[in-house]
Amino acid sequence: MNADRASVLWAAQAWLPDGWQQNVLLRMGRDGCWAEVTPGVVQPPAGALVIDSPLVPGLVNAHSHAFQRAFAGLAERRESESDDFWSWRERMYRVALRVNPAQLRAIAAQLYMELLQGGYTQVCEFNYLQHDTDGRPYADPLTLSWALADAADAAGIGLTLMPTLYERAGFAQSALRDDQRRFAMSAASVWAAASEIAASGRPRVSAGLVIHSLRAAAPASIKQLHDLAQGFAGPIHIHVAEQQAEVDDCLAATGARPIEWLVREGLLDARWQLVHATHSQRSEIDAVARSGAGVVICPSTEANLGDGLADLPGWLAAGVPITIGSDSHVTRDWREELRWLDYGQRLARRQRNVSAAPQSGQPSTAERLFGLATRSGAAAAGAPAWAPAWGLVVGARADALVADPQEPAILGVPNARWLDAMVFSSPVRPWRDVMVAGRWVIQGHRHQQTATIAQEFGQAMAELWA
Ligand code: ZN
Repeated sequence: MNADRASVLWAAQAWLPDGWQQNVLLRMGRDGCWAEVTPGVVQPPAGALVIDSPLVPGLVNAHSHAFQRAFAGLAERRESESDDFWSWRERMYRVALRVNPAQLRAIAAQLYMELLQGGYTQVCEFNYLQHDTDGRPYADPLTLSWALADAADAAGIGLTLMPTLYERAGFAQSALRDDQRRFAMSAASVWAAASEIAASGRPRVSAGLVIHSLRAAAPASIKQLHDLAQGFAGPIHIHVAEQQAEVDDCLAATGARPIEWLVREGLLDARWQLVHATHSQRSEIDAVARSGAGVVICPSTEANLGDGLADLPGWLAAGVPITIGSDSHVTRDWREELRWLDYGQRLARRQRNVSAAPQSGQPSTAERLFGLATRSGAAAAGAPAWAPAWGLVVGARADALVADPQEPAILGVPNARWLDAMVFSSPVRPWRDVMVAGRWVIQGHRHQQTATIAQEFGQAMAELWA
């Protein structure tokens, strides 16, 4: 593949919303979105770029805290009697308190390049790192947000940048702890920041809103942000029910479980994305399904942190939109996330292919999960601002992935089982070619900025961990 920008592609096999299709012609518009997607075109037209391996859409990474990439692999020693989410958080805060804008940009650029290599073409930044190390706003209060946007631009990934309502240390506290001073943001400041991001006109950057969690924001502030966002079309993300302790504290403070509280207050709609939603009950799942809200599951991070297992079969059966996120970035490849999404259930239930649905014509675990994560991506990323859909479909941004046909995991595998092998036969190398908005940002496994980005990341890591 050599064209940096080809406006017509032809793939012998491509993943469209209804599954694999043969002989697919894809034409890009000047806006970087798909203008035509037509299967069954037997001959590639003259001038079309012929894709020699199945073509699949890039996926939305629906949950990221970019600065935590600086911490991946560095929290894997237990130095006290027990280690859980809360002790991990203490160590994570130490990084959060030190990182400066230049370091954040370097860390995020490395992360975003790796996410592209791992098959994500859009990342949703759940960004609660806002202020200077002493807790005071920067001269430009959005300095750290722009560091993330600059990193996304350098790597070439799409970015949903989401400032975070964060104002208290817990259900029973009215203020933040001193080590949370960089996170402080009111409903009004979140709304102002999101409005400024939306108006910035940066290419491939859109705005979303975040409520850190019910423990970190007072009900009145959540309702205030909800009111400000009445006409807002972008996504609204919240960490919810990740830890049993959070569920217990929420019950004690409000008389309701976290998801139950969001439902009871009438807040949820199709813009809302419930991140983790690990500890849920059947009635909560049914209520979320009725609201149209989605859930974002982060299998590798939830495993790394010992959070527990989401009720994946329950969410699937209820028809709730599901996306995945790499969250703390202990892995940066959606194939590994999808694999562990089902493996967790297999280990717990002593069954295989838990996510498959042969009764509805979906016997492939990988295809069902990948199709769902693709379809659900638009809402999680707030796509309507620039394209109404996600995937290889007219109107969606022209993002696509191509693997090397010589990849051992897929060598000799029938094309119909290609996605099964990509997810469940590991390791698989990073994607060979990655397209974002009609431009190849990775070609032949090569990202043009690799050397610079890696050098700056290495320097930032050395500064942080010296
Ligand atoms: Zn998170």
